Amino acid sequence: MTFPKKTIQDIQAGNLTDRNVLVRVDFNVPIEDGTVTDTTRLDAAEPTIRFLLDHGAKPILMSHLGRPGGTVDESLRLDPVVSPLESILHCDVLKADDATGGSAREMVHDLEAGQVGLLENLRFSPGERNNDPEFARGLADLADQYVNDAFGASHRRHASITGVPNHLSPAVAGELIYSEYQVLHEVHDNPDRPFVALLGGAKISDKLNIIEALLSRADWVLVGGAMAYTFMLAENGSVGDSLVEPDFVDEARRILEHRDDYQGEIVLPEDVVTAQSIEPGAETRVVPYGEIEDGWEGVDIGPQTRQQFTDIIQEAGMVFWNGPLGIFEIEEFAEGTDTIANVLADSSANVVIGGGDSASAVHQAGLRNAFYHVSTGGGASLQMVEKGTLPGIDALDDRT
Ligand code: ADP
Ligand code: MG
Repeated sequence: MTFPKKTIQDIQAGNLTDRNVLVRVDFNVPIEDGTVTDTTRLDAAEPTIRFLLDHGAKPILMSHLGRPGGTVDESLRLDPVVSPLESILHCDVLKADDATGGSAREMVHDLEAGQVGLLENLRFSPGERNNDPEFARGLADLADQYVNDAFGASHRRHASITGVPNHLSPAVAGELIYSEYQVLHEVHDNPDRPFVALLGGAKISDKLNIIEALLSRADWVLVGGAMAYTFMLAENGSVGDSLVEPDFVDEARRILEHRDDYQGEIVLPEDVVTAQSIEPGAETRVVPYGEIEDGWEGVDIGPQTRQQFTDIIQEAGMVFWNGPLGIFEIEEFAEGTDTIANVLADSSANVVIGGGDSASAVHQAGLRNAFYHVSTGGGASLQMVEKGTLPGIDALDDRT
């Protein structure tokens, strides 16, 4: 695989000294009471920032955080990121209180070699999500060069992702984008066979496109999580009070009617763990697929399904997993997700995991380092597997 875009390695040649380099990172991290509770995404940005510092550049970092809706939300400022970032990088981090205003310009002016700058939450401006060219230019005016290392946001056509590279040259990829691309492009383009896709999670609407794309490329598509109940409904099964998306029943039915036309085989659960309330300690009952009683809700795959999925995974050459198979946040409903996570960790297949909650699920099961690749992106990893590239990667300078 040759990466089709320029990377930071390509601009190394003496051209970084004292240069202001605008770096889009994904610092959309969980924060509780002003403290970052998981630094995975900060750690993931370190190699690129370190490379720039080592070559004498002045990195100016920018990210979104949460969904402030285009206006200043005091609870979503990026200040809590400063101290963990200083610990990771062992250098001073100067932070601005806006992204393109007086505070940002002053911070850039004050920035010295060996220090890192951080702009305020990009989504305080409506221009970020609207991909406003004026906002993109305001950001570009702060720097001489652009690096995108925000893998988890690169499926979005936002100003800092696809707008800024129109105004700055060179515009190149960072280390994280490069390494995520290598693996996920392989999943898209040339997976080891048999290639098994394992899909779960809450909403089918997020993932219908990927189900179809995977059915035409994978050998097996195993469906768990809440999305299984929309398929159940499409087959006129009883779903009780399970989470379903009635608007997508027709689409699910269409996929099932064409199931013989796809290269891959779709596998739905044989049995389901059900509960009357979604809380720790709730009584659970295992029922066959399509026979969920009123007042009961599907919360996990059942034991026969765990075995069925296990048998298929044990034959796999590659597995792509997105979405927990049950409500894994509650111990009584986590057995399906935990069991399959352990089967994946023990299997000889190259296992690639995408999705924020899927990554938390494998961390919860104590399996952080047991896989071929755990992506930092959710939607971005799905889109990479579906299309083989992302808008934020397409926007960068071609390798010539
Ligand atoms: P990811 O972040 O890995 O892409 P999603 O965000 O799509 O995954 O879905 C994760 C959520 O799906 C979890 O919070 C989990 O509780 C929920 N979920 C899984 N199975 C069910 C189910 N049977 N009913 C309701 N929610 C479910
Ligand atoms: Mg999620």
